[in-house]
Amino acid sequence: MLLNSIVGSILTVNFPITKWLRSWIEPWHAPTSTSPSNEITKTEYEAILRDMLKTMGTGFSPQRPCAHLASQISTHISPVTHNQDLARKVCKVGALVALYFYPTHGPAVQALIGTYTAFYLILDDEGESMLAQISQFRALLMNPSPSSAPAAIQMTMTAPFKLLAWIFTEIDRVFAPPVANRLVAGVLSSLSSLEIELDRSTAFSGVASPLFAKYFRNMNGSSEAYVYFLLAENPEDPQGDGVTGSRLKRFLQGVPELWNVTDEINDLMSFYKESIGGDERDTFVYHQARGAGVSIAEVLRGLAREIPRRSGLIERIFEDDEQLLEMARGFSLGQIEFYLASERYRLAELRLE
Ligand SMILES: [Mg+2]
Repeated sequence: MLLNSIVGSILTVNFPITKWLRSWIEPWHAPTSTSPSNEITKTEYEAILRDMLKTMGTGFSPQRPCAHLASQISTHISPVTHNQDLARKVCKVGALVALYFYPTHGPAVQALIGTYTAFYLILDDEGESMLAQISQFRALLMNPSPSSAPAAIQMTMTAPFKLLAWIFTEIDRVFAPPVANRLVAGVLSSLSSLEIELDRSTAFSGVASPLFAKYFRNMNGSSEAYVYFLLAENPEDPQGDGVTGSRLKRFLQGVPELWNVTDEINDLMSFYKESIGGDERDTFVYHQARGAGVSIAEVLRGLAREIPRRSGLIERIFEDDEQLLEMARGFSLGQIEFYLASERYRLAELRLE
């Protein structure tokens, strides 16, 4: 391992703390489910989550009414899936995301964001049967007429992906062009990571960059899009103080924090559903624990510390722009309250107070 020894020696010379870095340039180890550090009990998880909620000053509260918005979302989602039970559930989650993440957006924008969320959850739950469509969506979008498509693209767009194409058109109606560009980029990026994730025929192995887990995580779940969804223009006030060039630049200066806190809240708060209640091991928390040579509990504790720290930083970044501050202030808290309120994440099963 010439590269390993060269990098190892460089790290030894330049950095006193090389263990963490060295662990990353060593071969990617397969998960060892028998290792105690690779698992966490429900009680340990409850304690970590309880501490984070206490620091953020929040906890369970009654779920916000979402039936009307969910039924609006359902008019788009119900026709594109055969699984009506799943459709009903994801429409409700979509409505809750829109209401908790973006409480001040108008109802039409909330319906659009909720519809996108419900669409994405269908992919998340049933994506394995849609792998070819996920893989070819961008190419099909660019070649709507089959006769003009390259020979490699052999299919036409199915109903769920026609819905996504429609969502892209609506995004151009509601968001300023530079924001819409980032939104579409974020969604396409998440489809490319989903395509790789759903391909179970191969696994990650060999040497990994120290930035790999973060890089792959940032693409996953279109968290970038959820950050830019904050910048909807107000259709009731077209002459208003909208997303100008300078405001977009101010916003961009806080995007890395908004983006990462979105991922961190999801990784911490969906962990019970995915990896304690469920058996998912191919997630950021496990990638990070494996790469850094630390326990699952340590990774989760790190997330629980980062969420309040980043939320405070976001407020400081935007403190001289009242409109941005208003948009960003409740973003972390709204997301946390969404996970607590949504049945999907099963957090009501835990002792968190
Ligand atoms: Mg998750």
